[in-house]
Amino acid sequence: MNHDRSRDLYDRALSVLAGGVNSSVRASMPYPFFAERGDGAHLVDADGNRYVDYVMGYGPLLFGHDLPDPVTAAIQQHASQGPMYGAPTEIEVELAEFVTRHVPSVEMLRFVNSGTEATVSAVRLARGYTGRDKIVVMQGGYHGAQESTLVEAGEDPYHTHPSSPGIPESFAEHTIAVPFNDEEAVTEVFSEHGEEIAAVLTEPILGNTGIVHPVDGYHRTLRDLCDEHGSLLVFDEVITGFRVGGLQCAQGEFGITPDLTTFGKIIGGGFPVGAVGGRAEVVEHFTPAGSVFQSGTFSGHPVTMAAGYETLKYAAEHDVYDHVNALGDELRAGIRDICEEHAPEYTVVGTDSMFKTIFTREAPEAFEGHCEAGCTQRETCPRYDICPKNSADVNAAATDRWERVFWQEMKERGIWLTANQFESQFVSYAHTEEDVERTLEAYKEAL
Ligand SMILES: *Cc1c(COP(=O)(O)O)cnc(C)c1O
Repeated sequence: MNHDRSRDLYDRALSVLAGGVNSSVRASMPYPFFAERGDGAHLVDADGNRYVDYVMGYGPLLFGHDLPDPVTAAIQQHASQGPMYGAPTEIEVELAEFVTRHVPSVEMLRFVNSGTEATVSAVRLARGYTGRDKIVVMQGGYHGAQESTLVEAGEDPYHTHPSSPGIPESFAEHTIAVPFNDEEAVTEVFSEHGEEIAAVLTEPILGNTGIVHPVDGYHRTLRDLCDEHGSLLVFDEVITGFRVGGLQCAQGEFGITPDLTTFGKIIGGGFPVGAVGGRAEVVEHFTPAGSVFQSGTFSGHPVTMAAGYETLKYAAEHDVYDHVNALGDELRAGIRDICEEHAPEYTVVGTDSMFKTIFTREAPEAFEGHCEAGCTQRETCPRYDICPKNSADVNAAATDRWERVFWQEMKERGIWLTANQFESQFVSYAHTEEDVERTLEAYKEAL
């Protein structure tokens, strides 16, 4: 594969963009390829190389790169009528009505412009609503580039530190970071600080940390603790929303009703978006109905709203989730079989249309009875005691090998995966059986 043009473009970019990119995750080693165009499930780079794309914009592209006709038509119509107004439009009501019809916990919404803005607004809302300052997050959970959640914790969940320069130490004082899937740790935090906790904020499935599935009962424990102590449970469904569990989202799949949910990615049909939804009584605390300030020039942008609405409507009326989930199962089961033979210590993770392989270091004694298509923390699985339960377990895996060896080899074989061990990969409606077969062939050679 020739990458001359991408290398030249990156050379130019390094002079005028910090690190040559506009989102840090894009700067893969030694330099990223520049995208020229999409074609179904494939991406063509600036040098004309073609890849089967499982990055899918890091989550938003449910259909792959070719949008269904009604989605394209709605985008073009709204763009050509004048891009935005500063006055409300019918299309934002349509999308809000659609979401409230399908997502169990959502009665009312506020649209914003990114997943980050959604989680920032949700945390402010939870604090404003409860009159409390502390929030509980999961170690290694990701909620965007926001000050309250960019924290690291050691052994002691109370002594968190900002994970980036530029965030005052004092901000982290209000954030308690517990290990995911550890019922004891979060129960203890509530018994010591329950009256000060505004909210627990968690992804239903850790989607930015290798993909970690909850153990049975974990979310129920979080729900009960929040109820007992008057705290809000906030599900960050920016990745899982309208992907895991289809239109009901992960909360429907797990049967847990959060007080607030944050959305992003798919809900904007490929355009910048975020949203906070939940019980009307809570969401109405946002200005102007209530007093928790929230506002945005581009919020509810008509082109985004149209893309999001037509995307979800199309998914409701076609076999989109059946297709992506079936191919997801095929990929996970296929990679599992390859691992059994070539790398029994590795853990295949993911559900629905999300998949990843964590390069864990310990093999189970037996392979029989192994989770069929992605780790679901099934207690009877022979891997149960060694499969990753939290971000520390994922960090302990051979993460360098992914980035420096495996990912590069897959790329050379024309399969574009996420460039580090932590980010999820996605199957789109445009992927085919043939793509999956090619991908498994490449895994077999590269693993
Ligand atoms: C992507 C993501 C975010 C941040 O969304 P942006 O649109 O990148 O700001 C927040 N939470 C989760 C779970 C995400 O996956």
